[in-house]
Amino acid sequence: MTDAHDVIILGSGPAGLTAAVYAARANLKPLVVEGVVEGGPTGGQLTLTTDVENFPGFPEGIMGPELILNMRQQAERFGTTFLTEDVTATALDARPFRLSTASGQDLHARALIVATGAKPRRLDVPGEDALWGSGVSACATCDGFFFRDKHVVVVGGGDSAMEEATFLTKFASRVTIVHRREEFRASAIMVERAQRNDRIAFELNAAVVEVLGADGTVTGLLLEDTVTGERRELACDGMFLAIGHIPNTSLFDGALDTDGEGYLVVDEPSTRTNIEGVFACGDVMDHTYRQAITAAGTGCRAAIDAERWLADQDD
Ligand code: NAP
Repeated sequence: MTDAHDVIILGSGPAGLTAAVYAARANLKPLVVEGVVEGGPTGGQLTLTTDVENFPGFPEGIMGPELILNMRQQAERFGTTFLTEDVTATALDARPFRLSTASGQDLHARALIVATGAKPRRLDVPGEDALWGSGVSACATCDGFFFRDKHVVVVGGGDSAMEEATFLTKFASRVTIVHRREEFRASAIMVERAQRNDRIAFELNAAVVEVLGADGTVTGLLLEDTVTGERRELACDGMFLAIGHIPNTSLFDGALDTDGEGYLVVDEPSTRTNIEGVFACGDVMDHTYRQAITAAGTGCRAAIDAERWLADQDD
């Protein structure tokens, strides 16, 4: 068996990289395994955004990929190593934990920090991928600012859709909530707040079947009535998806406890999971805040938790 790493961190978004900075500065020589998010670039969701204007410390804002690169360099500076490979299997039933990679490497870790993130659920309709980041977004907090005096659509009927729509009225002149049913999953109070807002309109029993664009920006949506099947175009400047997130937990099925929505459960306020020595941070365990800064905060907590747990093992 190869020597076990003190800490392996799975995921290289703000949670994983912040955990790496802290673990490296505690002399734990962490290994960050990135590339575990199927179909996504390394660095997580931030690499898909452009300007990040709400991460403290950057008064002029910073581009998402640059922020991630900075965090990565900071982690490297203190001795973090990176492995860009998919982890294909984990064995967490005995310590050291074992991880197998796509190329057949076996990795061993005394402590494991899971920072595999979550991906926004997508509609999977034509136009969505091509216009992602150019009018199509899943984060009103990140991108709402760019739609001042525009008409935007929010897709979904849950609390997130109501919250995002209400938030977007700070910028957009008009917000239309497009929802595939007549009933809402959102709580009554959130629906009522949206209904009382005279900038918000509703298109119910409507499914988005195509995102329409010209010159690389969104110009409208093709909607289909879910009752009659009739189709029509709705002109708009942007589309925000609020149809839920999918935490990236498939590597830990059956081993790590998840809540009813599939997020890893931790023993709050710590980042301990149900398996001793395994810690979780970032969007894979947070369905409430989902911000880069909150992910970084839990990454810091996970590294400190892991460091203290390892110290206890050595005593
Ligand atoms: P959610 O409650 O799961 O709602 C997702 C919505 O998206 C549903 O209305 C669903 O439609 C729709 N949807 C899902 N897949 C779709 C598809 N392929 N095409 C079209 N529509 C689709 O997710 P959420 O709103 O993100 O909320 C997640 C959790 O966070 C909830 O527990 C929520 O209460 C909580 N949350 C709370 C607050 C707050 O209290 N301030 C704010 C945000 C979120 P159907 O209804 O037809 O299934």
